[in-house]
Amino acid sequence: MSVVVEDLRRRFTEDGPPAVAGVSFTAPTGAITAILGPSGAGKSTVLRLIAGLEEPDAGRVILHGDDVTDTPVQKRGVGFVFQGYALFGHLSVRENVVFGLRVRGVPRTEAVARANELLHRVQLDGFADRRPSELSGGPRQRVAFARTLAVNPRVLLLDEPFGALDAGVRLELGEWLLRLHDETGLTTLLVTHDQPEAFALAEHLVVLLDGKVAQAGTPAELRAHPADGRLEAFLRVVSRTRPS
Ligand code: ADP
Repeated sequence: MSVVVEDLRRRFTEDGPPAVAGVSFTAPTGAITAILGPSGAGKSTVLRLIAGLEEPDAGRVILHGDDVTDTPVQKRGVGFVFQGYALFGHLSVRENVVFGLRVRGVPRTEAVARANELLHRVQLDGFADRRPSELSGGPRQRVAFARTLAVNPRVLLLDEPFGALDAGVRLELGEWLLRLHDETGLTTLLVTHDQPEAFALAEHLVVLLDGKVAQAGTPAELRAHPADGRLEAFLRVVSRTRPS
């Protein structure tokens, strides 16, 4: 299913510039789309508007053809993972995943079976009885993914999900995310300020600068034809490190 946003606008202050100043793009069905841009560009706000965690001043969010602009967050069918995603420290890894299912009325036996399946999918079979605090950052973030996938989201929204981890673990989790995406085929939006990460993981990129879409397209298109000088400057690091 595709994610379409039309002319989204959000302002937090009366006098300052808007955080999101008329953002439109389509994130294709079944692809990973990265929302890329420097800090303060409005990336998180756009993701939160799509999730329904934030209300737009204007504009529309359309998921799989349904206009969900006025639909509450829990009815949008979106799964959310962000940096430093909070797990329940007093529950085991398995119970953390079971929790989300029980809240949605899934009977306990079924919830446990589904949690075991999900922990297998995120390669944490052997860790189900541990506490989150006994895991290092990478596996802990994989528990967060399992908990999010437990509710069968129609769209996966990731806000710097590997942001708190060091470079080696980020790379590893990036490769893991690509495998998970191959298996699930979920339409995924990934917010990141890290150009190499965006170019390595996404099939489609939306670059935000100052609350507006500076350019959208495939990594190859952006590398070959940056829209203007500002975009070229922002992408220069990538061109140097990753020749097309
Ligand atoms: P990014 O994710 O690209 O770093 P954000 O969407 O977090 O950017 O923020 C865009 C702008 O909006 C920033 O100037 C930020 O300070 C401001 N902003 C974001 N959320 C709030 C909020 N809840 N209240 C006030 N200002 C906010």
